[in-house]
Amino acid sequence: MADTFKLTHENLDSLFAALRKDGRRILAPVDGDGRTELNEVEKPSQVAKGYIQTIMSAKDVVFPKVERLLSYTTAPGTVELHDAEPKALPTVLFGVRPCEAKAFGALDAVFNWDYRDKFFNARLEKMAVIGVSCLKADDACFCTSLGGGPADTAGSDILLTPIESGYLAEVLTVKGKAIQALAPNLFTPGNGVDKAAIAAKLEQAFDQPALTAKLPGMFENELWEDQALRCIGCGACAYVCPTCVCFDIQEEADPKQGQRLRCWDSCGFSMFTLHASGHNPRETQSARWRQRIYHKFSTYPERYQMLGCVGCGKCTRACPVDMNLREHLVEAANV
Ligand code: SF4
Ligand code: SF4
Repeated sequence: MADTFKLTHENLDSLFAALRKDGRRILAPVDGDGRTELNEVEKPSQVAKGYIQTIMSAKDVVFPKVERLLSYTTAPGTVELHDAEPKALPTVLFGVRPCEAKAFGALDAVFNWDYRDKFFNARLEKMAVIGVSCLKADDACFCTSLGGGPADTAGSDILLTPIESGYLAEVLTVKGKAIQALAPNLFTPGNGVDKAAIAAKLEQAFDQPALTAKLPGMFENELWEDQALRCIGCGACAYVCPTCVCFDIQEEADPKQGQRLRCWDSCGFSMFTLHASGHNPRETQSARWRQRIYHKFSTYPERYQMLGCVGCGKCTRACPVDMNLREHLVEAANV
C-alpha cells in the first residue's frame, strides 16, 4: 500500500534541488529539435509539458547502446585482460510514463535470468524512478490491454499524478522513501484524491491472455506474412522499445589491443540470425515479425511469467511505414 501525499509545484522545485544536492543527476523529458527526449535537467521548469511519450525509451540508462565489457592489450606471448567496470551514476528518472517505468521489470527478468549482469545491475541499483501519470493517450497506446494503466504504479519508486495545486505523490518503494527522506517536509498529507478520475481513459483493445493462449497454434498462420508485407526491417521499433534487449557482441581490435563491446541489435534485422554457414532460420521478414510478437507475448510469459511488452506504443510512433502494433495484436486476437 502506497503512502500518499501532495507535492506542490514549489515543493517539487525544492525536491529537485535536494536531489541534486544529494549528488544525483535528474533525467527528464525535454523538448528540443521538434521532439521530446530524456535529458539532464536542473529544475522542473525545464521538463517538457504536454508530451505523451519520449521517442526513445529510458532503457539506455541501464542498458546503454554500446557498453565495453572488457579490453585487452597484447605483447609477444602474452595477453593482458582488463575488466571493464560500469559507470553507474546516481540517477533519478523523472517524468517517465507508467508503461515505461514498468518496462524495467522486463529488462530485469532478462539481465538476471540465468546470469546476473553486473553492468545492468550496477546501473539499476543507482537509479530511481519518479513516474508521472498520463492525462492523455494516443492511438498507439495500449497499456490497459496488457494489465497496465495511465496511473499504474508498477516500476515507479514515486508516482506523481498531476492535480491542480501540483501533484498527488504515491511513495511506493524503499528508494521512493529515501527520496522523500531527503526533504520530508515537502510532502504534505494527500489522501482523498481520486486519481482514476484524473488519469487518461484508455479502453482495453483486446484480450491478451486469450491471445497468448492461442499463439502456439498460430505459428503457420498467413496473418504474419500479411502484416509484415510493408515492414522494411529497419529495426527502429526495437531501438525505441523500452523492453527490447537484443544485443550483439562486437570485437574491435588491432595487433596490440582490443575491446569487446555489447551493442544494441534487433531481431528485425535480416542478419540477426544469419549463421556462418549461410543458413538463416528466420529468412523472411514475416518470420522475423512473427518472432517479435511471439517473443513478447508467448516466450516471455512462459519463461518469466510476465509480458515482454508494456503497450507504450513507441514502436508504432517510430515506424517509418506505419506498422501499428496495437492494431496488429487486435487482428491476431480476432483470428
Ligand atoms: S520500425 Fe516498422 S518497418 Fe522498421 S522493423 Fe519495426 S515494424 Fe518493420
Ligand atoms: S513492443 Fe512497442 S508497445 Fe511494446 S513495449 Fe516495445 S515499443 Fe512499447
